[in-house]
Amino acid sequence: MRFLELCETFERISKNRSRIYITNELAALYTRLNPEEARALSYLLIGEISPPFRAIELGVSSNLILQALSTVLARSKDSLEQSLKRWGDIGDFIHVHMRERKINPLMNNSELSILDVYNYLHKIARENTQRGKVDIIINLLLRMNELEGKYLGRMIVNKTRISVGVATVLDSIAQARGVDREIVRTIYYLVSDIGLTAERVFLGDLSYKIQIFNPISPALAERVGNSEQIIEKIGKGFAEYKYDGFRAQVHKRGREIRIFSRRLEDITGFLPEIVEDFQRISNDVIVEGEIVSIVDGKPVPFQELIKRKRKYDVLKYSNMIPVRMYAFDILYLDGVELYSEPFQNRREVLSEFLREKDLERIYLSEGMVVENKSQLDIFFNKALDAGMEGVIVKRLDSPYTPGQRNHNWIKLKRISDTIDGLVVGYFYGQGRLRDYPGSLLVCVYDEELDEYQTVAKVSSGLSEEEFMKLKDRFVEISSPYINLNTRIQPDVWIEPNTVVELNYDNITLSPTHTCASSEFGGRGLALRFPRIVQIREDKSMREVTTVSEMISLYRSQGENQSTGTEGME
Ligand code: AMP
Repeated sequence: MRFLELCETFERISKNRSRIYITNELAALYTRLNPEEARALSYLLIGEISPPFRAIELGVSSNLILQALSTVLARSKDSLEQSLKRWGDIGDFIHVHMRERKINPLMNNSELSILDVYNYLHKIARENTQRGKVDIIINLLLRMNELEGKYLGRMIVNKTRISVGVATVLDSIAQARGVDREIVRTIYYLVSDIGLTAERVFLGDLSYKIQIFNPISPALAERVGNSEQIIEKIGKGFAEYKYDGFRAQVHKRGREIRIFSRRLEDITGFLPEIVEDFQRISNDVIVEGEIVSIVDGKPVPFQELIKRKRKYDVLKYSNMIPVRMYAFDILYLDGVELYSEPFQNRREVLSEFLREKDLERIYLSEGMVVENKSQLDIFFNKALDAGMEGVIVKRLDSPYTPGQRNHNWIKLKRISDTIDGLVVGYFYGQGRLRDYPGSLLVCVYDEELDEYQTVAKVSSGLSEEEFMKLKDRFVEISSPYINLNTRIQPDVWIEPNTVVELNYDNITLSPTHTCASSEFGGRGLALRFPRIVQIREDKSMREVTTVSEMISLYRSQGENQSTGTEGME
């Protein structure tokens, strides 16, 4: 399939952001592809060329693209730089300049295929020199028309302007192949690789199997209000300390060991002591746990641990801040896939496994069976006394559900503060909420700049009925007319007159939100796991939480509270 056809689809879906429309458009593309093309397209749609744990970087800045453009457009790089500042988006900028300069304007039969472009992007990534990268881009642009140039630019520099959500891509694959979407999702969550998923589905392989050295998407914990509700949901369960560190999934086969973060990145290089420990054993295994560091009996604040991530400091920090791992799950052992076994069995296998080994830094997570509220409350208090964030209670008969947040695991944490935010738009939901608000884009107010900045996308805390009712309440507008600083485009903009009170787990730095981003090097403050507590009918748009309040909330997060897991994991 020609790359131009993909660009035309991108153009259409940029004008109609409804999820159903996008799924239909993409499914129509997929139906015409072979497995290899489907694989390439799937990466391109999410703005990538490989899964996150392979970390293949293009290594192209907007500066390099300007160098290439300066040759293609025969204009000085300085003047282009000025012009790009005015345009903001690299794609629109390339589009206009290629059109003005009449670079291949009538070339509507461009021969580049999706696979060609995908392979060229890999070539750019493999190329070591900047000059080499620039030459490939020049070569590509000279074979493209302005629309293709626009999307090539976005693919290289401004990926977020292109990317379609993973769930939408998976649904389109399912639709194109006539396969149940839950099957496609399950395959994806087991291998965390959208290209591999597409390829398998297109080859007709719908079996569920893990692939060692491809991280299994982590199972996530739900949250309910209190311990009583947990017991109501789970009955007799297994309560564990909720350690405050970062999640790691260790894969070992033979001598090879890889460690993955919650965000599916390969973090092996940052945890040499853990690698060393696993090297002592002969088994092939996938173990999951929380990496923490205790110095003088106290957990080291998360930000300190994160510093280890800085490549060149690994050795220095390994000595200064030794880490350990509290293992809480085992998903694979010597050829046997364990993730679908009931939790109770996995726990037994895990504790047996760890008991037998002589591991220095891998501990079994602390936990006990709880049958009622008072037992759970006692264990919760014990966890807090031990400096934990809280507890996670796990259903005894539940399988490990990759990538899913459900009531198989429920967390109970210390109560956090709430904030009030202005709703400026919404995204359509799923299932019954397909045509209704499913998540809301929420902002806080910067008094200095007289500007609203986004801080959360919230989709929980209200029942489906309550979400449905919001549709009548919200008045749709074509674009936001308040001073709004956002990197997120909701499906529908609304009149900014609804204030919601939000509860959350903690505040983290995020590349998608804009709250106080000038203060934090471009990343904004974001609420982690926001939930709607109530609609504040008594509040107007001027009475929402301010950016300076957000900054002090962020800075005052306690030592034991995770302050940046999202950024790390
Ligand atoms: P949260 O990030 O608040 O949703 O809580 C879930 C996270 O808690 C997991 O992703 C793990 O990183 C972490 N965690 C700490 N201790 C445990 C445990 N015993 N079992 C499962 N997850 C844990």
